[in-house]
Amino acid sequence: ALLRERLETALALRERCFDAPYYRLCHGEGDMLPGLVVDRFGDHLTVQIGTAGMEARKEQLREVLRSLLSPASILWDNDLASRSLEGLARDNDLEGDVPEELDVPENGCRFLAPCRTGQKTGWFYDQRRNRAEAARYANGVQVLDIFSYAGGFGGTAARAGASSVTFIDASQTAVDYAVRNAARNAPRLADADAVKGLCGDAFACMEQLYDEGRRFGLVCLDPPAFIKRRKDAEQGKAAYRKANALAVRLLEPGGVFVSCSCSHHLPAETLRGLVALAAAKNHRQGRILYAGGQPEDHPVHCAMPETAYLKCFIAHMS
Ligand code: SAH
Repeated sequence: ALLRERLETALALRERCFDAPYYRLCHGEGDMLPGLVVDRFGDHLTVQIGTAGMEARKEQLREVLRSLLSPASILWDNDLASRSLEGLARDNDLEGDVPEELDVPENGCRFLAPCRTGQKTGWFYDQRRNRAEAARYANGVQVLDIFSYAGGFGGTAARAGASSVTFIDASQTAVDYAVRNAARNAPRLADADAVKGLCGDAFACMEQLYDEGRRFGLVCLDPPAFIKRRKDAEQGKAAYRKANALAVRLLEPGGVFVSCSCSHHLPAETLRGLVALAAAKNHRQGRILYAGGQPEDHPVHCAMPETAYLKCFIAHMS
């Protein structure tokens, strides 16, 4: 009954502000269900259970999800580091007809993403609003999407009128999806051969683009969590510092920089400081145009600051 009531509350909140069933249905403590993340992709659900306590309720959870949503399939995505700490199995468990690929509508675009081999739950819903904000600066400029995964930022920018889009990611699968998604959302760019993917280490790729003299009007930087645990804070902060400086160096004068961090242990004020430092290092005047975080399907519990993790600054660099 508790699971049902809390998931009903979560669902009602989503149905209040989304017109299609594509969202994070449950954001752990943010929805008062510790250890449980549920992403909804139409008829398909991806569920992550991160604690032994929630695992013990798996059967009841399955019943509640079935009766609330009648999903065609559920992927129990168990490939989480926290599961090892909790002594839980890491093998995925597929129920029903789990699709190979997700097709996600977002901000007027459509994105394909790998479902079974994807990262996290397949699609990063948390950047939905920040992608739309970033795309407001895309019209007529060359766009660089660093740590692109399936191209959420660059694909949205492509549809918003970018003159070219370049993606960087260490995963070839991610780069292939990003290129496909940009072409799908802006066929004119594909026709003009203006969508490019670079597979490799982002730091090396940024150096390479700089040496080639490439400059961009919009650069989006959305690294993986460089600080996973508090003890990694200093080392992780150095990686953010370096990535921000290299990214700003690739901006043409008057370019717009989007800097994100999903590390809970990097406070927003620290990221803002790194953006300022990157501007100073590159002899730019940086002006913040937008400061964002998580969208409404990733609620932050007022009494649990740990449920806040995502930061996004958009800055004009003269
Ligand atoms: N911006 C994406 C999400 C990025 S997730 C979106 O909007 O959906 C972080 C991505 O960084 C992953 O796709 C991962 O493959 C990639 N990655 C991790 N380390 C990397 C590295 N050193 N160089 C390039 N890409 C890396």
